[in-house]
Amino acid sequence: MRIDLHTHSTASDGTTPPARLMTLARTEGLDVIALTDHDTVSGLGEARAALPDGLLLVPGAELSCRADGVSLHLLAYRFDEAEPMLVTALQRLRESRVGRAEAMARSLEAAGTGVTWAQVQSLAQGTVGRPHLAMALVERGLVPTVADAFTPEWIGTGGRHWVDKVELDVFDAIALVRAADGVSVFAHPGADARGETVPDPTVVAMADAGLAGLEVDHVDHPPATRERLRALARRLGLVVTGSSDFHGDNKAVRLGESTTSPDEYEALLG
Ligand code: AMP
Ligand code: FE
Ligand code: FE
Ligand code: ZN
Repeated sequence: MRIDLHTHSTASDGTTPPARLMTLARTEGLDVIALTDHDTVSGLGEARAALPDGLLLVPGAELSCRADGVSLHLLAYRFDEAEPMLVTALQRLRESRVGRAEAMARSLEAAGTGVTWAQVQSLAQGTVGRPHLAMALVERGLVPTVADAFTPEWIGTGGRHWVDKVELDVFDAIALVRAADGVSVFAHPGADARGETVPDPTVVAMADAGLAGLEVDHVDHPPATRERLRALARRLGLVVTGSSDFHGDNKAVRLGESTTSPDEYEALLG
């Protein structure tokens, strides 16, 4: 059983359409795939309609959250997609992203990059995010790859053309997911190359609030971080997941590069 519990499609900042992602999952030998686009479930319909034989789709989303001023991502799985409070929260997050992306595009335009808001809008087919601004910078020849735009000179956190976005308080988010009968996993909790991460006491409080798991095996976690997080998960009785966080051409990682063991999957979603 090969299980990948964190992937993105064109419904957010991935470059693979949901239907194509399902086909690719089978080609890569996956048995279970979760589609977890940022702040949206809008890719799930297309994914479900294109599901190949032998592949199980876990519906999900990756929620933009904050704890003590630190941004973090919460993976939510198999929740009621029509639950009104959650629907409203996701809509608010997406709407705030539009104004924020426009402000970033205008900042880049004012700096003479040639990037325009219209260009960014045409690159984003779903939830707009910084990767779409990065793609615009690549199109204009200002950076060689999407990853190269995540620097202080461009759109890295706190950077020259970076603008903050609305995020859910993570404890509210955990409660919303539970109220919608879903389960939540803390995504890449130790990805400190991207920005500040939360301290262990916050993870303990999240576990007390109903968090179900920690994403331990992730490309942004060096071996020592994985061991630290595995021990923390064991201590707190949390499920340990591994996933690719596939974003198509926007990141170097391959689909199924990290996976979740069948036992841990059973404990989380069985
Ligand atoms: P946003 O949620 O709009 O602030 O954008 C965050 C997204 O940017 C993440 O979900 C990643 O997809 C992407 N990202 C963040 N840091 C990097 C990086 N160093 N290289 C490539 N993509 C990144
Ligand atoms: Fe992303
Ligand atoms: Fe994430
Ligand atoms: Zn992700």
